[in-house]
Amino acid sequence: MTASKQPAAGQQPIRIDALVIGAGFGGMYAVHKLSGMGLTVQGIEAGGDVGGVWYWNRYPGARCDLMSLDYCYAFSPELEQEWTWTEQFAAQPEILAYANFAADRLDLRRRFLFETRVTGAVYQDATRVWRVTTDDGRVFEATYCVMASGPLSIPKGVPFDGADDFKGEILLAAKWPHEPVSFEGKRVGLVGTGSTGVQIVPEVAKTAGALTVFQRTPSFTLPMRNVALEPDYVAEIKRNYAGIRQAARNSPLGGVRPQSTRPFFSVTPEQRRALMEDAWARGGLSFLGAFSDLLINAEANEQVAEFVRDKISEVVADPVAAEKLKPRGYPIFARRPCLDTEYYETFNLPHVALHDCLESPIVKITETGLLTTAGEVALDMLIFATGYDGLTGALLNFDVSGRGGVELRDKWHDGARSHLGLMMSSFPNLFLVCGPNGPAALANIITLDQQNVDWIADAIAHMRQEGLSTMQPTDRAEQAWMDTVYGLAELTLVSKANTWYVGGNIRGKPRGLSMYTGGFQRYGEACRLAAEGGYADFVFESAAEG
Ligand code: NAP
Repeated sequence: MTASKQPAAGQQPIRIDALVIGAGFGGMYAVHKLSGMGLTVQGIEAGGDVGGVWYWNRYPGARCDLMSLDYCYAFSPELEQEWTWTEQFAAQPEILAYANFAADRLDLRRRFLFETRVTGAVYQDATRVWRVTTDDGRVFEATYCVMASGPLSIPKGVPFDGADDFKGEILLAAKWPHEPVSFEGKRVGLVGTGSTGVQIVPEVAKTAGALTVFQRTPSFTLPMRNVALEPDYVAEIKRNYAGIRQAARNSPLGGVRPQSTRPFFSVTPEQRRALMEDAWARGGLSFLGAFSDLLINAEANEQVAEFVRDKISEVVADPVAAEKLKPRGYPIFARRPCLDTEYYETFNLPHVALHDCLESPIVKITETGLLTTAGEVALDMLIFATGYDGLTGALLNFDVSGRGGVELRDKWHDGARSHLGLMMSSFPNLFLVCGPNGPAALANIITLDQQNVDWIADAIAHMRQEGLSTMQPTDRAEQAWMDTVYGLAELTLVSKANTWYVGGNIRGKPRGLSMYTGGFQRYGEACRLAAEGGYADFVFESAAEG
């Protein structure tokens, strides 16, 4: 059920208090929270319904690599008690069902325009409002504009020439059809072996006639070892949710994940080996719970990486394929670690082949398949799991122009910058949810969404209470935050891989780690301090001055 589109040509601007872009978990909560404060709120969403990334990513095998009991809203005890997860790591249909449940329960759909894209957001200096235009010709004027457009919503798509020539079917993982897709007996080619590709491979292999996996950079992937949740366990979690949420908010990852205070080399080689075997057997991100320093100690990191490479050799029967599947040249956990279900095992199936794009790169798509420097691979279907223009892609996807006509594109020409990943100087009352200079991809995104929206709501409440019309951070505060972000980035191994985290997957994008790597808890503390004592790092205009 979506809001219907109205003819809008020549329409007068619709005046509202707050405009929220995006109906993922962040946008949904923002709409709920701000309307609950009595604001008039309009949500805008390009998709046909709520769910954000989970609305679009319907590919086979799509599943969250965070525990479901942790990957859900914490703000409502009622929602917590009414919803019951069935698996430790929920699959996409269940997560989308949860988003729909929350939208129904909070009556959010009537506040969204679906299948509608924002085409521009321009600050009006004279009237101090954001004028937001949409692709159906509507114009909104909002006092506050909240960008909850998501860190992974602009897919990189098909990076080769010839797509129009292909006689078979081309599918994008990030824009997967709503109708069932059959692989039965087909010769399928899959390009991309990040978290998405690693999930697709075992599923497609079940029914495809032949599957060729086109791998450029191998990922480190660890066994997920997903399990169904027992009712007694779920009941116990529900009884203890308050404490679990508090622990999540006070953790570096904003979620209940394994953590350790034990440095790798503080125990004997035998103990290390036993701990690694145990982590492998338990699955998930247990390695991060076994040792404390895998992201800062390169030697410790390499020993864990080598352990995982040995496991690949144990699983994959063909030694040549096993070698090709082994990631080298970047630290484990510097790319987002993948959690899989029988990914390496799939390469033992006789109809599954690995094509090494580093050895023979893809040249182009032909009528009948993919041409590589080693010849053509004949295919009936091509699946692209080639990733996203992450963190900044959706924010730069339309014109955003601030005070005095300052363009966001110009401001971020050398890389994203903001104060706390929440606000930017020269962009008054423009708020980012899960912005590129917060912990973004390094924290539980639903915890982060809620923390960001709560901060934004408090800031708006403060303005309304004090008779203030706008706020923006000072240049000095923004620079100080970016100095902190870059300073921390130098200490972590996360910046040592060429990934979407550092803009390395998009040609021409500024390179560098601009995410905050100090951990969710410290980030939350910085946000809290910034609000305390009257928002000293922000400049306000009073409503009376206007
Ligand atoms: P990704 O990690 O960026 O992986 C994209 C893959 O496509 C890489 O293997 C990349 O190789 C390959 N590729 C791109 N262009 C190519 C080309 N021209 N030729 C050959 N290969 C090419 O994207 P993703 O897998 O969609 O994952 C993105 C993020 O989404 C993850 O990091 C994660 O945060 C999130 N995600 C999470 C889950 C989950 O919760 N389980 C599932 C899916 C996604 P190179 O590395 O060589 O560029």
